[in-house]
Amino acid sequence: MPYHTNDPVRTSWISYSKSTHFPIQNIPFGVFLTRENMITIGTRIGDYAIDLGALQELGYFNQVPLTDDMFMQDTLNDFISDGKKTWRLVRNRIADIFDSDNAELRDHDAHRERVIFHINEVEMQLPVLIGDYTDFYSSKEHATNVGRMFRGEDNALTPNWLHMPIAYHGRSSSIIPSGKSINRPMGQFPNADEELPSFRPSEKVDFELETAFITTDANKLGEPVSIEEAEDHIFGMVLMNDWSARDIQKWEYMPLGPFLGKNFATSISPWIVTLDALEPFRCSGPEPEQKPLPYLQQKGDKNFNINLEVEIIPESGSPTVVSKSNSKYLYWSMAQQLAHHTVNGCRINSGDLLGSGTISGATKESYGSLLELSSNGKEPIKLNDGSTRNFVEDNDTIRMTGYAYNQGVTIGFGELTNTLIPVVSKSSKRGK
Ligand code: MN
Repeated sequence: MPYHTNDPVRTSWISYSKSTHFPIQNIPFGVFLTRENMITIGTRIGDYAIDLGALQELGYFNQVPLTDDMFMQDTLNDFISDGKKTWRLVRNRIADIFDSDNAELRDHDAHRERVIFHINEVEMQLPVLIGDYTDFYSSKEHATNVGRMFRGEDNALTPNWLHMPIAYHGRSSSIIPSGKSINRPMGQFPNADEELPSFRPSEKVDFELETAFITTDANKLGEPVSIEEAEDHIFGMVLMNDWSARDIQKWEYMPLGPFLGKNFATSISPWIVTLDALEPFRCSGPEPEQKPLPYLQQKGDKNFNINLEVEIIPESGSPTVVSKSNSKYLYWSMAQQLAHHTVNGCRINSGDLLGSGTISGATKESYGSLLELSSNGKEPIKLNDGSTRNFVEDNDTIRMTGYAYNQGVTIGFGELTNTLIPVVSKSSKRGK
């Protein structure tokens, strides 16, 4: 099934700036509330959200074999289940409808009025009903930095790390969209001088700069997905902030791994950028330092060159860029993660979310968490307003962005922005 949406010379009759993350070559998918408070599946070009439900109702997808209400739903799960052929037919058709030379919708005022909304008029929702959520640990730099802090230089990488993509099973109930605020979590902490642990708010709330991918139904229980076909089951990618409470995590993680230090919030960016849109930005990954077992051996360029950035915006409002990283640094690719996840027969469904793990590069400017940037609170980082941070403070906003660029085309994810607010207080009805 050919796709022609990536053609870098294609232009749209919707005008946008050269620096937009959403040129006509992107055509991501999301779910939003319209100004009439209707929920719909949509795409985005420049600063405009496009109601695909309305387009379908008006007959613009008649030549594409789709169920009647495909886009009049509040999640993308059914569309994703339809598979790669449908995704490509739909993206091709959208690219045609919005092509500069196509007058169908361009010259139809009443239809345009129904279908197109300024992005500020809509409210983005979670794009899929996430059944299962897994978070990997696939950046060697991140795993080494964290391991060094907790186990010392000699045991920084655990013995299994170079042989398999390590992961934990997260919790989908606390995955939230960009824009939603997060309460500082309470937890328990060991107390050197006392018999009982103490119970208080976490003092080490952190962000984790990650990308994540969303799958389609990949297999039946008991059937592994081979590395060669793994990418066929990946619909697209989002930015992800795997909010973490380092002090809760440190006390609870033995022997079963992350739990309450992670599951109070994980946020994802609203637009799913398809793997097809990212294809021009494919690149090689780090050279393997150990030959992986055959089921993890991947041929060709396995990574994507996506620039990633994190800003801290204190309540005062002046942002500071604290990290610049790139998804090309990942040691284990998405295909390797998916092949490993299913090698025992574990089932993967439409709308599952698989996170990369914190993406750190080799230098300090590219570390993807405050744990690494502040050396676990020993070396506070400076913000532009003169204040310092070891970890995230109350009313700080964390903004993540990501984009790929070449041949004059930028394909981006937009923003993932969430604010940490104080602990929920039962005695007070204030709060935001
Ligand atoms: Mn993580």
